[in-house]
Amino acid sequence: AAPVALVAGMSRSSRNGIVVKTGTTIEKLAKARTIAFDKTGTLTKGELAVNTIQFDDGRFSENDLLQLVASAEQESTHILARSLVAEAKQRRLTLLPVSHLKEFTGQGIEAVINQQTLRVGNAKFIEVNSTELTEDTTVYFSLNGSYLGYITFEDILRSEAKATVEQLHRLNIAKTVMLTGDHAHVANQIAEKTHISESYPECLPEDKIQILKKLEEKDRPVIMVGDGVNDAPALAVADIGIAMGAHGATAASESADAVILKDDLSRVSEAVRLSQDTMKVAQ
Ligand code: ADP
Ligand code: MG
Repeated sequence: AAPVALVAGMSRSSRNGIVVKTGTTIEKLAKARTIAFDKTGTLTKGELAVNTIQFDDGRFSENDLLQLVASAEQESTHILARSLVAEAKQRRLTLLPVSHLKEFTGQGIEAVINQQTLRVGNAKFIEVNSTELTEDTTVYFSLNGSYLGYITFEDILRSEAKATVEQLHRLNIAKTVMLTGDHAHVANQIAEKTHISESYPECLPEDKIQILKKLEEKDRPVIMVGDGVNDAPALAVADIGIAMGAHGATAASESADAVILKDDLSRVSEAVRLSQDTMKVAQ
């Protein structure tokens, strides 16, 4: 297409709340055949509320545990970490100093607090007994290798998610995919509610990349939409990476081809529609 038409398309997009970084992205968006979404913070809301804190250890109160967990998470940009810290602040708990902090992307975090090693993360990372598994979005924690308990979150679907997926189907994007580190129960519920055609639960960041790379030629170009630092590699591997950027510049926004400036997922289908219009006019 003529460069001038692409520039016009880019400026229309930015007026619509999505910054498209290059003209070729407009061309690819118009031809997209597949879209993959991260779940937490992308299909679901950017803020998760802490629901229940479950543990069975007389040494601690609920606030003691939240204080430990939030202390380990104070440096993390992960959306679950932000929610835990927000909950601790709301309860006016002071965060404790930590050392030997190690974050395992897509799995969890480890830190030393008061000479004890605390781990916070998914069930596999904490080596949780299967009887403790929940059906909600959950982080588990252990102290010095012994399982302590878990915290569940209210992970609410964005109100515009279903309409966005349906609009994308109408715009000829036949394959809609969810890639998530969360477990199958949560993933299936969200897929059902949004009419997403395929869901891949318990993905490590590396699995997300492999799934995108293995798509057949007929299913390309592929758009990937994500929000967290964890999603940056997948955004870079997709033909078109779109970052949810409403919460400021992040690693995800840097590796993306387009950034949504409002906290509104429907900007994605709007960008596809505008790009298709731009290409029709440009021909
Ligand atoms: P999603 O694809 O759902 O956005 P991620 O790949 O970011 O999920 O993370 C997968 C899982 O790993 C999370 O559901 C959580 O259980 C765990 N996890 C990752 N990072 C952290 C962290 N900093 N604190 C606690 N849990 C984490
Ligand atoms: Mg996420």
